[in-house]
Amino acid sequence: MTENTKKKGRLFVLSAPSGSGKSTVKELVMRRLPDLVYSVSYTTRNPRPGEVDGRDYNFVVNEKFRAMIDEGDFLEWAEVFGRFYGTGRHWVEDRLAAGNDVLADLDVLGASSVKKQMPEATLIFMVPPSAIELGRRLAGRNTETVEEARNRLARARSEIDRRHVYDFLVINDDLETAASEMIEIIEHGRGRSMSEMENFWPVFFEGL
Ligand code: ADP
Ligand code: 5GP
Repeated sequence: MTENTKKKGRLFVLSAPSGSGKSTVKELVMRRLPDLVYSVSYTTRNPRPGEVDGRDYNFVVNEKFRAMIDEGDFLEWAEVFGRFYGTGRHWVEDRLAAGNDVLADLDVLGASSVKKQMPEATLIFMVPPSAIELGRRLAGRNTETVEEARNRLARARSEIDRRHVYDFLVINDDLETAASEMIEIIEHGRGRSMSEMENFWPVFFEGL
């Protein structure tokens, strides 16, 4: 195949309310799909214990992030919990042009922005089986203060309100099942379509 006829890669965007288990599932999926490449975002937040610069995020200072905005270096960027997060435009475009499938982990606004720019992108939304379980996982992770965890729960509701932009829903109840569902979406385009899952949401919020 010549450079011009080479098949373009596909972009998959994964979003989830914080604490849903997205990082855990994502790691399993990346391990099992060696041809899928992960878009390492830039962020101004501090690394959590165990996070590695250049692997989990490119950790940068505010000035650097601002300069990258001015240079047009981001495909999209957003402020989340008072910190900045952005997707490297050139890296993603180069990987797609080279034929690699790319996975990006973005918040809901980032996902919407990508869908506008690249309507062919596949958007996947992940949640735990219930809002109560989401609170439990946030508390169990122990990486935020109580105040931060409360903010993250409140934000989950507004993220779910914007769910309609997504193509697929993955419910992360059992880890293995959630990873298999994501792989099925990426490899075969099959999964629970968001529009067919409207009956799930009252169940999700039950008991709150
Ligand atoms: P996120 O990246 O969505 O913020 P994490 O991957 O950090 O979430 O997971 C939040 C917490 O939930 C972690 O303590 C993780 O071990 C736990 N967790 C993830 N998936 C599951 C699951 N399927 N069942 C139970 N606990 C889970
Ligand atoms: P965390 O701090 O928990 O790693 O991420 C907080 C939120 O920022 C998550 O919803 C995550 O998806 C989102 N996020 C991470 N990287 C990016 C990015 O490059 N762009 C956008 N818009 N959101 C991001």
